[in-house]
Amino acid sequence: HTKGPTITAGEILVEIMATTVGDGFLEPQALIGPFPSGAPAIFIDQVARCGGSAGIIAAVGDDDFGRLNIERLRRDGVDISAIATIADRPTGSAFVRYRENGARDFVFNIAHSAARETHMTDKAQALIEQAGHVHVMGSAFAIAGIGEIILEAIKSVKLRGGSVSFDPNIRKELVQDDEGRKLIDDLLDVTDLLLPSGEELQAASGLDDEDAAIEKLLASGISEIVLKRGAGGASHFSRAHGRIDAPGLMVSEIDPTGAGDCFGATYLTCRRLGMHPEQALAYANASGAHNVIRRGPMEGAASLSELDAFMAAQISGEAR
Ligand code: ATP
Ligand code: MG
Repeated sequence: HTKGPTITAGEILVEIMATTVGDGFLEPQALIGPFPSGAPAIFIDQVARCGGSAGIIAAVGDDDFGRLNIERLRRDGVDISAIATIADRPTGSAFVRYRENGARDFVFNIAHSAARETHMTDKAQALIEQAGHVHVMGSAFAIAGIGEIILEAIKSVKLRGGSVSFDPNIRKELVQDDEGRKLIDDLLDVTDLLLPSGEELQAASGLDDEDAAIEKLLASGISEIVLKRGAGGASHFSRAHGRIDAPGLMVSEIDPTGAGDCFGATYLTCRRLGMHPEQALAYANASGAHNVIRRGPMEGAASLSELDAFMAAQISGEAR
């Protein structure tokens, strides 16, 4: 692995959550928030919490929602130099309410928020020039300017022998049109570590069967795939280490948002710190479980020593 920080680019948001389970926002109700959020922000915060060097290219408004996010990322050790503050647009937001069946209703303000003004800047360029790894968050492609930044970052990092990870958490509509499909294929071509969850594996490979999908993607040159299975845990696949499964930890889920982002950040960072995939998977699995037992998408981010304690408590809990 090449030295230099792990970087990502994309949306920073606040999340405001309904405190009750039910259908949407059609009547006044109790809410809690703002919580720091945005998949790329959650990811990069967890990279830093794990002890990895980390930076993000993003844009927020000149408001408390922006400041709250910047302060959290700064506190946790993320390089915030490439987060632009946009004077005349508010920080992005998402209102979310869980339904009885676990589905979610959202009211988003991302595409029209400060996030849409995420552009290549001198600060972004400077961060890219130091980077050793780029994490591509599929959700970030909702921002029109993000493609250019990501492609520039990938080119720069690869020239220095660095690596790329990709979480294909992309809106399904994007996969269906030709341009979206080409973008995903181009990203898969340069991906070293792929971090899909269930249907995203099918969408990325074009195959329904899990084994066939994994085989096709490994044959195409992706060196590691880690498949997220929610409460079922996760599986690692690679030519070098074969298949490794980690069953989910037994926890009672309170808020699953952000679990995949924490999981991916922990896996990647442990690998960049030189751990074997089995150990990285154990930490990542604990990181995802640790996130779902806390309300707020970034509130469950944890250091490796906190994850050690969490896993130890899990094991003693099982023995009881
Ligand atoms: P996101 O909603 O953040 O996009 P995702 O679909 O990318 O999530 P999930 O598979 O839901 O990812 O969760 C990521 C990881 O977190 C899982 O692989 C698992 O390790 C852990 N995890 C998630 N939910 C639970 C749960 N209920 N119990 C235990 N572990 C969980
Ligand atoms: Mg996901």
